[in-house]
Amino acid sequence: MKKIFVFLFGLGVLFTSANTKQTEPNKTANNTGYWQQHVDYKMNVTMDVTNYQYTGTQQLVYTNNSPDVLTRVYYHLYFNAFQPGSEMDVRSQTIADPDSRVGDRIGKLKPDEIGFLNVTSLKQNGIILNYDVVGTVLQVQLHEPIQPGEKVTFDMVFNGQVPVQIRRSGRNSAEGVALSMTQWYPKLAEYDFEGWHADPYIGREFHGVWGDFDVTINIDKNYVVGGTGYLQNPNEIGHGYETGEVKKPKGDMLSWHFIAPKVHDFTWAADPEFIHDTMQVPDGPMLHFLYKKTLEAEYLENWKKLQPKTVELMEYFSEHIGKYPYKQYSVIQGGDGGMEYGMCTLITGKRKFGSLVGVTAHELAHAWFQFLLATNEARHYWMDEGFTSYISDYAMNAVMDGNEENPTTNAYRGYIYLATSGKEQPLTTHADRFEYNQAYGISAYSKGEVFMAQLGYVIGEDNLKATIKKYYNDFAFKHPTPIDFIRTAEKITDFELDWYLIDFAQTTNTIDYGVKAVSGNKVTLERIGLMPMPIDLTITYTDGTTEDYYIPLRMMRGKKPTTASTLSDWAWAYPTYTFEASKAIKSVQIDPKEWMADINKVNNKFELN
Ligand SMILES: [Zn+2]
Repeated sequence: MKKIFVFLFGLGVLFTSANTKQTEPNKTANNTGYWQQHVDYKMNVTMDVTNYQYTGTQQLVYTNNSPDVLTRVYYHLYFNAFQPGSEMDVRSQTIADPDSRVGDRIGKLKPDEIGFLNVTSLKQNGIILNYDVVGTVLQVQLHEPIQPGEKVTFDMVFNGQVPVQIRRSGRNSAEGVALSMTQWYPKLAEYDFEGWHADPYIGREFHGVWGDFDVTINIDKNYVVGGTGYLQNPNEIGHGYETGEVKKPKGDMLSWHFIAPKVHDFTWAADPEFIHDTMQVPDGPMLHFLYKKTLEAEYLENWKKLQPKTVELMEYFSEHIGKYPYKQYSVIQGGDGGMEYGMCTLITGKRKFGSLVGVTAHELAHAWFQFLLATNEARHYWMDEGFTSYISDYAMNAVMDGNEENPTTNAYRGYIYLATSGKEQPLTTHADRFEYNQAYGISAYSKGEVFMAQLGYVIGEDNLKATIKKYYNDFAFKHPTPIDFIRTAEKITDFELDWYLIDFAQTTNTIDYGVKAVSGNKVTLERIGLMPMPIDLTITYTDGTTEDYYIPLRMMRGKKPTTASTLSDWAWAYPTYTFEASKAIKSVQIDPKEWMADINKVNNKFELN
């Protein structure tokens, strides 16, 4: 295909403008089609559980699928964030509302408690490279540029120290889990249509390159390991992974060999006191649960009861988003709250049952919206956290026998608080550039969730369900962007929806519609906020009957499926809209189900006395 394209393009140049300078075919390709880089990692690491230091080798085969010539590459060295004076440390000590888990703790770490990642050697196709360590980023000047379509091999030797656990990863968590090994290896930064994403690690989330991982972890034989990837030598390991007779090699160490195909991260955790249970999801993956046997009886019981609930959650998400594509998923006690990774999550374990299921539901939903639909989380955190929160609230309602008509009401409450607080920044803000942690949190989780829930109000619930499935089907194993999502909704509905993305996710414009006047059968509504919306409204007549109305939004160029009486459309620029109802009116209520994130509900209702 590529060759034919070049050939035709060449002819075009020949016939149309033979004597003018033409752009090369590769440059034009920059504006067409989707591409993503590819990595194949092979790592062998040895962990010393007495001093939490590790050594490793990494062979990385990098395929440049971009149309661009690369002269540099960047790696993340996330563990370097856990050093006094790091950007994460200083940011935490200068932001008005620091994360209580971090506070000033990084600044107080002693040399044997900090985290670090040292690269001691790096070669490109066998030739030694020069590089600089700049905080949490390794900047590498290439020996030879990498051409479009070229594969190169980077061979690295590195060593590291696992920090005392401050945030997400580390040793000796507050609950006593020995090793939470997340973002622990030199990790190639992503290069995509927006260029390099060598973001420093200041505390927020991640963006990685898709590829295949082959990882061998050598560790004290008493440690039980869980994480990303399929164990290749279960009968040399045992620890609940065995499929037959266990034959452990002699010595104090075990070598755990994992393969993880089509992932953009590799995470593991280990502890000598892990219980390891498994449960098979029918027609789905094997679930693994790793949690400390020293937990109090009440918590141990909760971890047992969690297992069939996780089966239900896996089935819920597979049905409502799309089938989970891996053969394995692990829920592991570790970390400092709940965090999503490839084929696994690390969660804290001392939780009441509802909280344990809730955090598992949220982190498991991330397998779809963070891991498989791998948006750049630094830029589009709200698509990750918000969509995850949306679907996990529905899943919790289903598996915990809730009967809420709208399980997302808390998200609406959070968003409306933020929108009226004066602290809101648009969802286009980089995750690290929020003035307040709280504003980031509400934006990512609550406003992102409202974006999805409210889209159901705009296009109809069945259309939203179809949109979510098509989005997954079209963009799994890629890096979708906001426009990919809204275009999917447009393709399902044939509506024009760019205004919804622009106003809600790219500005801080707010929604405020009101009932301005009612007289006899006549209703006048007004648009007070800048954001356009279609309107659902219910009228109660003086004879006691009610009627639902729907006012389409002109710029949407379509009407959602509804049983309500549909009125003529309302063009956004007109501040008011008047229509006549069929009978004398007693009261008018805009959006009675409160699916619209209207920031002032007082004027949504009008009642004749
Ligand atoms: Zn989350």
